[in-house]
Amino acid sequence: MRSSALEYLRCPKCRGHLSIHHTTMRNGDIRSGTMKCVKCDKQYPVILGRPALLPNAAVNTWQAPVDEVLGVPSGTPVNGLLSMNRLKEIGIDRAIEQFRNRSTNTKAVESDPNAVTKELLGKARYLDSGEWFKHNGRAERLLTFPAEGGVNFDIFKEFMNAVQKRESEHLIDLLSGGGYGVTHQAFQNIKLKRIAAVERDLKCLWNIQYRFKHIGRSSISEAIGGDVRRLPIASECFDTAMTLQGLVELYGISGFLKETYRIIKPAGYYVALYSEDPVTFDILPVSDFRRFAVETDLYAGHEQFISTAEKVGFRVISTEAFEATRGIKRITVFRKL
Ligand SMILES: [Zn+2]
Repeated sequence: MRSSALEYLRCPKCRGHLSIHHTTMRNGDIRSGTMKCVKCDKQYPVILGRPALLPNAAVNTWQAPVDEVLGVPSGTPVNGLLSMNRLKEIGIDRAIEQFRNRSTNTKAVESDPNAVTKELLGKARYLDSGEWFKHNGRAERLLTFPAEGGVNFDIFKEFMNAVQKRESEHLIDLLSGGGYGVTHQAFQNIKLKRIAAVERDLKCLWNIQYRFKHIGRSSISEAIGGDVRRLPIASECFDTAMTLQGLVELYGISGFLKETYRIIKPAGYYVALYSEDPVTFDILPVSDFRRFAVETDLYAGHEQFISTAEKVGFRVISTEAFEATRGIKRITVFRKL
């Protein structure tokens, strides 16, 4: 992590500025250290070069959004794809009832900067070294720039061009996953001067950064551990935000859109590629899931997404549907007005 990232990184709890302590450096990069909020004193670690700015909860857990909604304890294995089987077993009406009655005073577990587990550090070292890419044909699939093809490649290219057309200098990618989208944008869009990628699953951060390094853009790019519903980012400091898929893995769509709107500069853009309908893997009828999703603030489909975005202040500039191998995909460009 470059120290220049502190210009736009903020405490996810109170949005205070961060100061950094106990750092070790390598080639101009902060490899380890503690970021401390100057306002609320909360501390966040830099782990092997990556800033981990999660507002609460353990540093390395991911839960299926359905499980989060239902209050399933963290660490419980996912039941079926995205826990759709759990939802099916409970039934939509009972699940909605469970959501409404769930205890609101469950205390979030605070993250402790010293609680970086040995397991996570071990994984981080392995991923940071690039060794992971050397197996199972990953380098060919994931480190080929420009991308040469793949499932729904035309739609991916369409999306990449929609982001590039914004002619931004400062780009932020939200729900980055392994960073496939943002690194390909970084590769093709040479106008970019600052790139941030935010992902909650910390294991992804070293993969994303390795890709940035691979294309020679790591000096302007940062993979950041963060929760998109409480972004560790200063207000109005990116020209464009992008998301490539990922919405179906998120609980708290409205909070996410509010945060996205906040961090974009006035007249900035948000470009999203997503499925027209919520994804249920044929485990549940889409209409049933949609009813549950609307109630619980999960991704409920294109129309609901647009209306939520408009409520937080976005205006739709363009939206286009594409026939994909698994249902319709959509690319929508929003503008902050
Ligand atoms: Zn703070």
